[in-house]
Amino acid sequence: MGYTDLFSFYRSSEWEGLRKTITMERVNDQGDLICEYCQKPIVKMYDAICHHVVELDESNVHDAMISLNPDNIQVVHHRCHNRIHDRWQGGRPSGTRHIYVVWGSPCAGKSAYVQANAGRYDLVVDIDRLYSAMGVDDNRGAVKSNVLSVYRSLIDMVKTRNGRWRTAWIVRTLPYEIDRERILKEIGGGELIHIDTSMDECLRIAKERGGEWESWVQEYWSRYQPSPTLED
Ligand SMILES: [Zn+2]
Repeated sequence: MGYTDLFSFYRSSEWEGLRKTITMERVNDQGDLICEYCQKPIVKMYDAICHHVVELDESNVHDAMISLNPDNIQVVHHRCHNRIHDRWQGGRPSGTRHIYVVWGSPCAGKSAYVQANAGRYDLVVDIDRLYSAMGVDDNRGAVKSNVLSVYRSLIDMVKTRNGRWRTAWIVRTLPYEIDRERILKEIGGGELIHIDTSMDECLRIAKERGGEWESWVQEYWSRYQPSPTLED
């Protein structure tokens, strides 16, 4: 224990362990994990978020009766998590902003996941979508430095909490654990969401897309390192 901030809390083994325990314990007799907001099953484990009913901030994160108390935690879909915050805060940006780093293989469905789950008050930083906006998808080399420079500036906005957005979603492949740690440190906190689509499925989608996608998928999987604490 002894968290200095939300960042160290969300990366702590106590929180990782509690999340695992809670999501396992709350599976019902049919084997479904039911969202405590909409009462529908949470199909993908990465779509399950442990929501603090009494919201965490720098002043109460040290208090285990709030931060690590199962009674203060609801398991909900990401989309429902947004609805909960819309309802209670009337859509105004609150003191506590959520930042998610969504990572996984090319063709895993990261962009689609974020598009389906980001709310009306959210900022999305997605390199693939920047390429689509700024150039032609099959010739990335030509605009790479421009895309990366816009990306850097968006990351700065997240880091400095610049703007009125409430939740930021950063979409990256990040096969290396050290790079995932680095970006969380750089933006001053946040949670990782691993879109854990299998290599075979990613390759299947890459073949459909054509172009260089297949080699990008292969490159990712040749580097991929699982998160030691997040996954079994
Ligand atoms: Zn739900």
